[in-house]
Formats: sequence, C-alpha cells, structure tokens
Amino acid sequence: MLEGFADEILVGGRWRPGSGAVVETRSPATGEVLARLRGAGPADVDEAVRAGAAAAADPAWRDVPPHERARYLVRIADLIAERADDLAALQTADTGKSINETRALVASAQGTFRYFAGALETLEDALTPPRGPYLTMSVHEPIGVVGAITPWNSPIASDAQKIAPALAAGNAVVLKPAEWTPLVSLALGRLICDAGLPPGLLSVLAGPGRIVGDAIVRHPGVGKVSFTGGTSTGRTIGAAAAEKIMPVSLELGGKSPTIVFPDADREQALAGLLFGIFSSSGQSCIAGSRVFVHASIYDEVLDELVARAGKLRVGPGTDPATQVAPMVAHAHRDKVAAMVDRAVADGARLRCGGRIPEGGEYAEGAYYLPTILDGVPNGAAICQEEIFGPVLVALPFEDEEDLVAQANDTVYGLACGIWTADYRRAWRVARRIDAGTVWINTYKQFSISTPFGGFKESGLGREKGREGIRAYMRQKSLYWGLDENPLPWAT
Ligand code: NAD
Repeated sequence: MLEGFADEILVGGRWRPGSGAVVETRSPATGEVLARLRGAGPADVDEAVRAGAAAAADPAWRDVPPHERARYLVRIADLIAERADDLAALQTADTGKSINETRALVASAQGTFRYFAGALETLEDALTPPRGPYLTMSVHEPIGVVGAITPWNSPIASDAQKIAPALAAGNAVVLKPAEWTPLVSLALGRLICDAGLPPGLLSVLAGPGRIVGDAIVRHPGVGKVSFTGGTSTGRTIGAAAAEKIMPVSLELGGKSPTIVFPDADREQALAGLLFGIFSSSGQSCIAGSRVFVHASIYDEVLDELVARAGKLRVGPGTDPATQVAPMVAHAHRDKVAAMVDRAVADGARLRCGGRIPEGGEYAEGAYYLPTILDGVPNGAAICQEEIFGPVLVALPFEDEEDLVAQANDTVYGLACGIWTADYRRAWRVARRIDAGTVWINTYKQFSISTPFGGFKESGLGREKGREGIRAYMRQKSLYWGLDENPLPWAT
C-alpha cells in the first residue's frame, strides 16, 4: 500500500470517506494493492453539486474579476511545478506509465493552468453592430456547475484540460476520475485546495462510472458535462445529456491512420510510427494504430518496423530507460491479448509480439509485447475496433484514391499522420482525411493553444485553445436602448 494515502475523497469542499463502494487501485507493474478508499455514491454527488452551485453563485467567486480569477490558476500551476516529482511518481505507480511520460503529463497539466490563466485575462466580449437606436453586446457567463469525467490513460493531463478552463470560465467543477486511476486526481484536488480556491468549487468523486458518473450527468444541478473516454460511454452520456437538453463535450476513441508515401524521410517515418503506436503502450486515443504504407515500399518498411519494434525496451515505468511500460491493468492487458488472438485466428499474420514477455521481471506486471499484424483487409475487426494497446495493424495502398477511401473507412475520426516530402500531396491528403487533427511529418505532438477534438464517432466539441474557455460558458445578448423617444408601435 502507498504510504500516507488517506481514505478520503473531496465532496463539496470537505475531505472525507465517500458513501459508496470501496475503490481499490493496484500497481500495474506488480499487481499489489496501492490504495483502498471509500468511493463516492449518489448522495455525495448531490452534496457536491449543491455545494458547487452555492460556491459558484457566491460573490466571493462570482464577482471576482478575470485577472484575479487567473491568479488562482497561476497558483495551482506553481504548486504543480513544486510537487511535480511526487505527482509524476504517483501517476507512474497508479497507471504503470513510464516516468518520462508522467513527468511530461505533469508538465502539460502545469502548462494548461498557466495557459488558461493567460487566456482568461485576454478574453474579450463583443459589441455587435446595432440596427437601430440601441447598443448590442454579446457577453459570456459561467454555466454554474460543470461535470468533468475522465479516463485512466493520462489522468492529470485530462483532469487539467477540463478543470482549468471550467474554473477560468467561473464555474464549479465536479470531477469523476476513472476507477483504475483515481490517485493523481485526488492529489490534484488536495493541491487545488492548498492553492486557496474557495471551498466547494471543486469536488473529486472517485467511484464507478455507471453510478457516480451517471449521477453527475443526470443531476439537474449540473449544467454541462465534459467527458473523455470510450465511444460507447460517450454515446450513453450524450443520450442522457439530450434528455436534459444540456451541452456536452465528448472526447472519444480513435483508430487513427498513419500514412507512409515512398518519398517520405524513412528514418523520420519509422521513428514516428513507432512512437505513434508504442509510446504509452498504445493506450492513447490518438495512437496511430493503422499504418498505410505505399505498396512499392511496403515489404521493406514493414521488415524494418518489425525489427525495430522487437528492440523496444519493455520494462517497469519507474525505469527511465523503459519505452514500453506495463498496461494500466491486468484485465485490460488480457482484453488486448484476446483481441490479437482473435485476429490471428481470423487469418491475420503476426509479424512480431502477440504475447506477454517471458522472464521473472515480467511475471507480476500487466506487460504485453509491441505487436504488429498484417495480411487482413481494412474491413477486418482488428482494423476497425479500437484496441487501446501496443498493437499496430499494417495495410498497403496503391494510390491516393485507394488510400483516402481506406483511411476514412472507419467510424472514428480523431487523428492522422502523413509522412511525405511532397507538401502539395500532404495538403491534398490532409484535407481529405476525416480527422480532427492531422500531423504532417511528425506525430503525437501537442500545443495547448491548438484546438483538439474528433470527427464522426471520435467526439463532439473541442478542448484547448482560447475558445476552450468558451466551451464552459453561456452566451447572452444585451440590448441597451439609446433612443430618447418611446418605441413607435404603441404611440
Ligand atoms: P471509459 O469510457 O470506460 O471511462 C471513462 C470515464 O467514464 C471513467 O471515469 C468511467 O468511470 C466513466 N464512466 C463509465 N461509464 C459511465 C456512465 N455510464 N456514465 C458516466 N460516466 C461513466 O473509458 P476508459 O476505458 O477509461 O478510457 C479509454 C477510452 O478513452 C478510449 O476509448 C480512448 O480512446 C478514450 N480517450 C479519448 C481521448 C480523447 O481526447 N479523444 C483521450 C483519452 C482517452
């Protein structure tokens, strides 16, 4: 068990055990129990939402001008920087991720709070052109209480991506972290309390999605839900939001194509493909999980990819040399393994991996070897279903028409990577692919200033960017009469 981890969640400004079931979190590297805590239940959701609504309406928050609200965000960012090592180590313990990656995620969370502090100070509302003797204004106001529901793959970064803009917009936030990885979200909650945020503005309710998440979505006091997670959960949440006529943003799954043209810089493309699918052990919504290679170079690129995948360093997340860390949980690893086994049984050719690594150091952890498959058409289940593990499926293409048709033949539309030296072709293909983000001669790079979100079943709405704050606001129009005379109709 982790030392010093209190059995408490944050409910409307109070740290206390929840009224729901016990949440147990285990180390993906060793299987040992890291923490056990009493999670939230529906009564805690109700308390959190009521406290949030009161705190958001309190003049101590409601009337704070943007530049002062921004100072809270800067203080939170400063505390994240101060506690960066502990936060990264905690997230590595809970998610299994490599320490290099969790350090980067902590840095990203810090940057997110700083960015939205700056964006908040510089956001402007509009005077709109009037059509009579009046002045027209379009202003933005907070929604009130916002629900934030996050997945397990990058908890501190996805939590920050919702909490920072929602607080910047003047709301209260009820955060529901994933069952497998609540620890860093709770630590972030402590840190935000330490930053002096007025109590009640943030709740962190660890607990099961179907009970706690569902209660947040359906609570009449919650005015918006921002969700990141799987597409089927997103569909359920979207339907519940429709019942309430409530805005919802959905950041969902993907099956992103990466494309290699014959003129691509081969070294850059290979490094990008390996990073795109095998970093984070493939547990990334934007993982480049389908690679399309031009038929003329297919065999040589695949051979080289397989050779390099076999040399990736698989090991514990705590080792800075590790490239492929354990997966988040043994149950998830077993699901990924079953999908690969099924694909092979259905006729896919296993080019490398496809099994749990052997040896004592791997015995207890949720490890899985980097895996490459090919020999199946794009319609095969392994090419269509999100695997969320270190599994790449490779397909050849003949020409641009064939490529675009295959790449877009998926319900998803999250991301795409294009490797080519021809900037005209990159432009043409980038504009034809159904994806919210396209990387050209790079992959999996992010700027908080650049909006992010999916097409098709990969999501609804955008996070990040200056407009990211607006996603947590309501727009209101004001008309100010300037005429000295009564309106003519009644005279
Ligand atoms: P998930 O959908 O199972 O769970 C996500 C969150 O939703 C968890 O906190 C869970 O407890 C909660 N939840 C589950 N059922 C719920 C319900 N009925 N009502 C309300 N909340 C509920 O996803 P996961 O397995 O935690 O994460 C992996 C998925 O997330 C993948 O599909 C991945 O692509 C996606 N993801 C998307 C992005 C993106 O930005 N597009 C980023 C990261 C992960």
